[in-house]
Amino acid sequence: MEQYLVGVDVGGTNIRMGIVTPEGHVLKKIQYPTDMSLGGMAMMEGLVSKIKDFVREGTRGVHSEIRIGIGVAGPIDMRRGVLIAPPNLPDLHGFPLREFLQEKISLPTAIENDANAFTLGEGWKGAARGALNYCGITLGTGVGGGIVVAGKILHGAEGLGGEVGHMVLNPEGPLCGCGGKGCLEVYASGNGIRRMTLEAIEKSGGKGIVHKSKEDLRKITSEEVFEAAQKGDEIALKVFNDMGSYLGLGLVNLVNLFNPEKIVIGGKVSRAWDYFIGSTTEVLHQRAMKGQREKVEIVHAECGDDAGMLGAAYTALKLE
Ligand SMILES: [Zn+2]
Repeated sequence: MEQYLVGVDVGGTNIRMGIVTPEGHVLKKIQYPTDMSLGGMAMMEGLVSKIKDFVREGTRGVHSEIRIGIGVAGPIDMRRGVLIAPPNLPDLHGFPLREFLQEKISLPTAIENDANAFTLGEGWKGAARGALNYCGITLGTGVGGGIVVAGKILHGAEGLGGEVGHMVLNPEGPLCGCGGKGCLEVYASGNGIRRMTLEAIEKSGGKGIVHKSKEDLRKITSEEVFEAAQKGDEIALKVFNDMGSYLGLGLVNLVNLFNPEKIVIGGKVSRAWDYFIGSTTEVLHQRAMKGQREKVEIVHAECGDDAGMLGAAYTALKLE
């Protein structure tokens, strides 16, 4: 009997679904905007009917075994299959996701948080292919990540482990969304880049970044800082250089703790790769322990927007 995996990536902006073979070939995929206008519960009901239609159409007339894997933003209590304060779906705190999906879809269903799904997708089909010990980092609005040890994603006691973005790099640093201070996320995320840029402009007396008015500057996006760096803007270049050094400190901690073969870095902020990776690897090679730092490869993600969907399919493949 043929097996098909349905990978679903539930993001704050878009939902992506793919029918994937056990070898990781994507046979069909769709994408549509996440509609939260009627609340999280209505979104979940809509998701279920979309998955059912997608499975029916994608595997029509084929006698097959189908498994579903779903990646969702935010922490999941993996023991109970319950969402914990999902950032994009605030009214779904405490929602029994696994039970709900299994009841509604009646197919074997695996769940995983989106950053772990990204990490597993890159390990299966992307830049960390073939590695058994590796870490994934996504640089987006926030910083997410996952840690794979001996081929298995690290979940910790409740499934909440691997929060790479909340490694503390500076105990006196800026406040983080998690309630802590100076986490990797406040330096290496899109929001962190915005903040560091505004601070740097303030310090410089308003120079640089295409001479916008103060009013406009408040709305500056990390994307615009990247564009400014491409044009050679000194402040933007310094911000990415500093961001890269902090990211390097994060990598030092990961390398010393987990001795990974590879660290794969993705997410939309990683488009600025050329502007931060130099200081990242410099810090890594200065500070990580000698035995560990020699072998680790720092690689740019390869699966693009498909990583989460592929990783979700992979968790379905590995479902016991
Ligand atoms: Zn934090």
